[in-house]
Amino acid sequence: MAEKGFNAYKMAQEQFDTVADKLGLDESTREFLRVPLREYHFSIPVKMDDGTVKVFRGFRVQHNDARGPCKGGIRFHPQETADTVRALAMWMTWKCAVADIPLGGGKGGVICDPHDLSDREQERLCRGWVRQLAKNIGPVNDVPAPDVMTSAQHMLWMMDEYEHIAGGKYPGVITGKPVGHGGSLGRTEATGYGVVFTIREALKELKMDISETTAAVQGFGNVAQYAIELFTEYGGKVLLVSCWDQEDSTAYTYYKESGIDLEELRGITNRYGTVDKEKAEVLGYERLPGEDWLKKDVDILIPAALENAINKDTVNHIRPSVKLIGAGANGPITPEADTVLEEKGIMVIPDFLANAGGVTCSYFEQVQNNQNYYWPKEEVLGKLDDKMTSAFYKVMELSKRKNITLKDAAYMISINSVAEACRLRGWI
Ligand code: NAD
Repeated sequence: MAEKGFNAYKMAQEQFDTVADKLGLDESTREFLRVPLREYHFSIPVKMDDGTVKVFRGFRVQHNDARGPCKGGIRFHPQETADTVRALAMWMTWKCAVADIPLGGGKGGVICDPHDLSDREQERLCRGWVRQLAKNIGPVNDVPAPDVMTSAQHMLWMMDEYEHIAGGKYPGVITGKPVGHGGSLGRTEATGYGVVFTIREALKELKMDISETTAAVQGFGNVAQYAIELFTEYGGKVLLVSCWDQEDSTAYTYYKESGIDLEELRGITNRYGTVDKEKAEVLGYERLPGEDWLKKDVDILIPAALENAINKDTVNHIRPSVKLIGAGANGPITPEADTVLEEKGIMVIPDFLANAGGVTCSYFEQVQNNQNYYWPKEEVLGKLDDKMTSAFYKVMELSKRKNITLKDAAYMISINSVAEACRLRGWI
């Protein structure tokens, strides 16, 4: 999202350049991989309920498809920018490569605030987005999915529009669909659970017992809620969650020293992941400023909201008790903050590894769509655990062997894999 002085795309390129230097990547490969392969910018006219027409700006960026069709979510956000979408598309390329799934990287977005749109208006917006892109997406070239402020319902409207245009049934055009309509069991849980699968393994490396750990979580949407669900199932305790408050246009942190009660908080949270502040206070939660999610003694931090959460300013709020960060959101840690975290000796599971569970399950969804046969939830989550755990250890092994951070190791694995695919195809 656009924020003063912060540009996610510049950050993604900077991260890429650093690792490209370390890998000694040749000039043409560098030039090819540090920018998207293709991008689409378009206008979507939408008939509003009051009879007027509003024009929204939409994007789709396809960063790289050497390893398979592009894959990546669609965000609905008022501060969406082309550069944010470019960054997210690039991170998707690395994510699919590190998780070792045969897909490339893409991302989409619309500048809009769904809070201000009725369900019918949102449906028209979804259909309009697909009408602009129907020729350029599809099961074998680019497969969108949900992301911030988009849901399974949005995906179903999009699939339906694509099928009208293509004249057939193409459930594999989009993932994150509702279960029973081409969706996979376990997709809702996948990203948050995936974050915790990697946290579980990292804690083993740190010789810490997960059931004795505490955590603070930024965000209380899809990723955060399911990360908290599995973390608490493993016996961990979450003391703080923060979320955006639409009414006050600010973020708040909710704190309970004895640990939050997930179901209780879920019961007072809207579909956009905003906790009702009055009800939270009645339930005994202390309401603190948004950035205070970093200011209490916990063992683990899980940024699961948006990019730029831990930056050169906020990194200094992190308490000495923190041993591990599992990056649930995309791009929540800036390169400057990364350097500070390394100096502090905090282990960081990088975003494109930690949150790869979503795209891995989306890939499973496509496989099930192709088979037209649906797996039980335990099978999906079991396969997800296997994939995430093996991706984690591949990265951990390289990190130990080369004495580098998990982030650098993960980048090296994915950039090498994508560069090799480009070379083998004869592109560079
Ligand atoms: P969501 O819309 O369900 O939830 C976002 C949450 O962040 C909400 O609770 C919102 O209130 C909160 N938030 C927004 N601004 C905030 C701020 N300034 N301070 C504190 N909280 C704030 O989104 P999501 O699907 O959970 O995605 C969260 C992050 O994870 C994003 O970076 C997304 O790109 C990434 N991600 C999501 C998936 C997925 O499958 N949903 C997969 C991979 C990565």
